Amino acid sequence: MLNLRWVWHAETREIFDSIDPELWAQTRHDPVRLLAEVAPQRLAELAADRKFTRRVELAVAELSDYLTEDRWYQEYAAGNADAPKSIGYFSPEFGVTEVLPQYSGGLGILAGDHLKAASDLGVPIIGVGLLYRHGYFEQSLNNSGWQQERYPLLDPNSLPLRLLHDHADQDKPVVIELPLDGRTLYAQVWVAQVGRVPLLMLDSDIEFNSGTDRDVTDRLYGGGSDHRLAQEILLGVGGVRAIREFCRVTGTPLPEVFHTNEGHAGFLGLERIREYMTGVDGRPALDFDAALEEARAGTVFTTHTPVPAGIDRFDRELIRRYFAHYEPLPVDRVLALGAEDYQDGDPTKFNMAVMGFRLAQRANGVSELHGEVSREMFHGLWKLFDTAEVPITSITNGVHHETWVHPALLEVLESARGNGDTILDGYDWAGLERVDRATIWTMKRRMRIDLVEMARERLTASAVTRGLPSDWTADVLDPDIVTFGFARRVPSYKRLTLMLRDPERLKRLLTDPERPIQIVIAGKSHPDDEGGKRLIQQMVQFADQEDVRHRIVFLPDYDIAMARPLYPGCDVWMNNPLRPYEACGTSGMKAALNGAANLSIRDGWWDEWYDPAFGWAIPSAEGVEDPNQRDDLEARALYEIIENEIVERFYDTDSHGLPQRWIQAMIETVAGLGPKVLASRMVRDYVQKLYTPATASSRRVSATPTSAEELAAWKRRVRELWPQVSVDHVESLGGETVEVGATIDVSALVRLGELRPEEIEVQMVAGRVGPDDELLDIQSYPFPAGVDQPDGVRRYQGTVSTHRAGSIGYTVRVVPHHPDLASDAELGLAALPKISEP
Ligand SMILES: *Cc1c(COP(=O)(O)O)cnc(C)c1O
Repeated sequence: MLNLRWVWHAETREIFDSIDPELWAQTRHDPVRLLAEVAPQRLAELAADRKFTRRVELAVAELSDYLTEDRWYQEYAAGNADAPKSIGYFSPEFGVTEVLPQYSGGLGILAGDHLKAASDLGVPIIGVGLLYRHGYFEQSLNNSGWQQERYPLLDPNSLPLRLLHDHADQDKPVVIELPLDGRTLYAQVWVAQVGRVPLLMLDSDIEFNSGTDRDVTDRLYGGGSDHRLAQEILLGVGGVRAIREFCRVTGTPLPEVFHTNEGHAGFLGLERIREYMTGVDGRPALDFDAALEEARAGTVFTTHTPVPAGIDRFDRELIRRYFAHYEPLPVDRVLALGAEDYQDGDPTKFNMAVMGFRLAQRANGVSELHGEVSREMFHGLWKLFDTAEVPITSITNGVHHETWVHPALLEVLESARGNGDTILDGYDWAGLERVDRATIWTMKRRMRIDLVEMARERLTASAVTRGLPSDWTADVLDPDIVTFGFARRVPSYKRLTLMLRDPERLKRLLTDPERPIQIVIAGKSHPDDEGGKRLIQQMVQFADQEDVRHRIVFLPDYDIAMARPLYPGCDVWMNNPLRPYEACGTSGMKAALNGAANLSIRDGWWDEWYDPAFGWAIPSAEGVEDPNQRDDLEARALYEIIENEIVERFYDTDSHGLPQRWIQAMIETVAGLGPKVLASRMVRDYVQKLYTPATASSRRVSATPTSAEELAAWKRRVRELWPQVSVDHVESLGGETVEVGATIDVSALVRLGELRPEEIEVQMVAGRVGPDDELLDIQSYPFPAGVDQPDGVRRYQGTVSTHRAGSIGYTVRVVPHHPDLASDAELGLAALPKISEP
């Protein structure tokens, strides 16, 4: 029960349900409360029930196998010497279960799914977060539809958590200490066991702390910037210390890779630098530069937002104050790490994303489009390179299927397994092809009924809270009507109310006598976001109207408990963000796994995997400057797709009442997207593309007591001598541009100054010629070794054949070269031919 595997293990949940179905529903599926509250007679009865006890024994044995047997990672690690022994995964929020409300939205759910998938795959991750005593708020509505926030106090002792104790003295909880603005902050560590993965949660609400310090972990995303900074220092600095304690007490190997999930956790890099500077694990103390190399090599940073206002920044002076006495780190070096020292940067700000990139040798965005947008957004940090070369890659988010797919559908995908390669992680994503269509449709109807029942219950409760009559809520929605879902946080870019652009048109769709639609809406607005609350109110007031209220509902308090029946119950999942502000989006993936079609702007993941077989793309009017006009255009396209295509297809049934084309699309959606959108695919990607290379780098840079210092010294030397490097002359045997298929034959004269030839690489850089004569989509090709010429010049000569369309331009450049660099752009240094002014 303390192991949270029950969160996604259907059979264990069935056991809890069978103990006392009413209480299980009442406790909102919280086994800790269930077992605390169940009547003793009932327990005695069950203990005497042979069938029940055998089921429990089986579940216990199954869990023990799950926790100990070799899984995907064990085989992977056997074949990969550089697979890490352990990984630390830091995130400001974790959405593992509604029972632990430590998340506000997609970022937290993603982190929770990352841990669950890592557990299933056997990846040795240790999660690190904070335990917010009030979590994120619970949402209700007042009479007029205005959001109300409640922050119930959580008692960690009644949650599925255990306090980390020192094993030498089981009564003594481990207490972490860290410097905070001239004081010492203390925190205890709660451990949530997510299958095989421990999640450490730091909690400052202990008696060692003074009043305000006890409140550091009071709530998620509350308070001003001092408060937020204190939280982030606790998460990053305290988190590294908590991992050390956890590993010492439990004998777990220390992480070789540290993953910073979003900038908020970035201070972990500073703590690791501090450790290397003071000398840890019997190693000699390093200077700042060498310590930085050690820390960077094993750090992965994932950026999560393309919304500039979403980037976490602090006043520089605040950082100076908090890190003034963080010995032996020089505060000026700390400040330099977060400095926006590029064009259009603000010199008074300390930017957590910028620090994230400087402290991590490897970084990524969370969808292909978001990777591209991030490379543009942070181009200033590598401005001598083409946008495409900015060293930020992408790994597209995924969702944990056993958490998010309806148990009935999972059962089908498991039992209808063929023997093809469409089986992934135990389920055959193409399995629906082998299932009778009527069965599929009955199952989908069952999912809709689950949603309708949940919605009626919640609406009835909400009507009471709002002081409204509830005589109509018992029969809202209809399990035979095409059901749309729209649920997510409510920042303005997500445009909750776009569907209200033409209210009369929406009403006609909802109340069509022959072919109506129905919509289920949910979402919380950040407590300080008045604009978001206004949008919710607008939505609620529309849905309150008597002529539509049975077809469009706003359900308060969107959380995991609501989300689980919501996605399967929908036929169409709607998403209309302002492109390209949705970094990835994951709710549409969860809906798709349950056979829903997506109706979405091509943003985030949907830009990457959109296919007419899986749903519809709302055309994005990005070129239109006037936001009102843009909304009008996009809303009109939305209505048209619903009227002309969705409604038409859903209600096009055969003589048995089956919408054959719709069912076919369901089958294709699950088969086509299933394998792609899984969190297990995402975690494998992280392991193979980032964690393993980071481990290799980390081991190389710490191979000998001096290797980090040597790398740091080399970088210093290259930076210092770089002004001496130049490309003096480029000579070609063709024109300035060449046509596709041609070979480019170039010779260049390069001056290296005091640098040695093996410390640089001379490259031919070719790309399409853009409208301003710039090179686009460039590719670089190293020249063969050069030959010394008189006067300190070297000649490099090479040939490249082009395969690209359009006219090709090229140039020659010199970049630093070292086996421990992860990309040519890493140092941000390049020498290009001088442009001769006419
Ligand atoms: C999946 C999920 C989200 C994230 O949805 P987006 O599509 O990324 O906006 C937010 N909240 C809950 C409860 C979820 O389950």
